[in-house]
Amino acid sequence: MPRYDFDLITIGAGSGGVAGSRRAGSYGARVAIVEESRIGGTCVLRGCVPKKLLVYGAQFADAFADAAGFGWTVAPPKFDWPVLIAAKNKELDRLEQIYINMLKNSSVEIIEGRAIIADPHTVEIGGRHYTADNILIATGGHPTVPNIPGIEHVISSNEALDLPALPRRIVIVGGGYIAVEFAGIFRGFGSEVVELIRREDLLHGFDNDIRVALAQEMRGRGVEIHARTQVARIEKAPREGYSVFTTSGQEISADLVMYATGRGPNTRGLGLDAVGVKTDDKGAALVDEWSRTSVPNIYAIGDVTDRLNLTPVAIPSPRRSTTTTRSRWTTPTSRPRCSASRRSARSASPRKRRAGNTATMSTFTAPASSR
Ligand SMILES: Cc1cc2nc3c(=O)[nH]c(=O)nc-3n(C[C@H](O)[C@H](O)[C@H](O)COP(=O)(O)OP(=O)(O)OC[C@H]3O[C@@H](n4cnc5c(N)ncnc54)[C@H](O)[C@@H]3O)c2cc1C
Repeated sequence: MPRYDFDLITIGAGSGGVAGSRRAGSYGARVAIVEESRIGGTCVLRGCVPKKLLVYGAQFADAFADAAGFGWTVAPPKFDWPVLIAAKNKELDRLEQIYINMLKNSSVEIIEGRAIIADPHTVEIGGRHYTADNILIATGGHPTVPNIPGIEHVISSNEALDLPALPRRIVIVGGGYIAVEFAGIFRGFGSEVVELIRREDLLHGFDNDIRVALAQEMRGRGVEIHARTQVARIEKAPREGYSVFTTSGQEISADLVMYATGRGPNTRGLGLDAVGVKTDDKGAALVDEWSRTSVPNIYAIGDVTDRLNLTPVAIPSPRRSTTTTRSRWTTPTSRPRCSASRRSARSASPRKRRAGNTATMSTFTAPASSR
């Protein structure tokens, strides 16, 4: 009779949590993954993937404009934002299902609900208690906004990916890669875009040549970039839209105001303090090079650790940490299951991955080409 319900409970089914759970499952561990929202997490549902689909969509404006110079006669192109958003959502549904299947194929049990760590070996989900030898925290992050008057009027990247209509005029606050990419997306679809940045240049921390050249390109395409600008308050305009007031007294009107000024780790209400998991001043879980927290059997990976908040960083670290506990999961009793799942993973995964990528493009392009 095993001492715990599971060898591993992962909290959060995003890029990191799914990768770590599947890897542990392939070693024969009894794994459960808890998710309070949808399977796939930020990258698949609210980040990289939907954003890139909108970037692809926006790029067609250039292709139509260039086509005439290459001998094509193109009827004046018409763009329909709700059609694009519906196609994007269909694609995200498909990807979510792929993630669910991947977890099931790795014998990972999916538990729906919000997890709270009750003690170092117990996770509470909707009033039920599940025990585990190890816990992996992979709860990701969320957009953060400053506490200024009128901040309740703004949207974040989450809402920007799901707008009911394309804004005619949008103010984007922030100079990081998310703000820059959304400025390009909205401008590509024809919105008037004003980007407000605190510093002199965009993309703080990137190579200086890139920062300067990118700003020139963006301005050349009609994005109005206001450097060294901070927002003092935002007011709802009397008829429609909003007024953004800067600290230097400028007023900028827009239909929408989007903030992309930072993200914070999802650790609130998770029970970390009570259980002894140390966090930094932003609430990010502190970990060692093996992604181990201050509680030896509790690990944390991905954006919740606030290191480099990118998918390729979130994915390898849980693989590394689950590999450190592999020896305990590949015991003689668990070996048959382990080798079976490893064999099927070896034979199936590269082909599946390729097939998945091809399907992504064809599924997504179908609605557009049939318009
Ligand atoms: C707009 C945008 C664009 C991006 N573009 C890129 C890009 O182009 N390239 C790139 O590499 N990265 C990109 N990123 C970053 C990337 O999405 C993240 O680094 C990555 O998704 C982090 O993965 P994660 O597993 O740490 O967390 P997440 O993917 O956020 O997963 C965390 C999961 O935990 C769940 N959860 C949280 N708390 C609980 C709880 N208590 N109980 C149960 N479930 C819980 C959440 O619902 C979520 O599903 C982008 C991010 C954004 C916002």
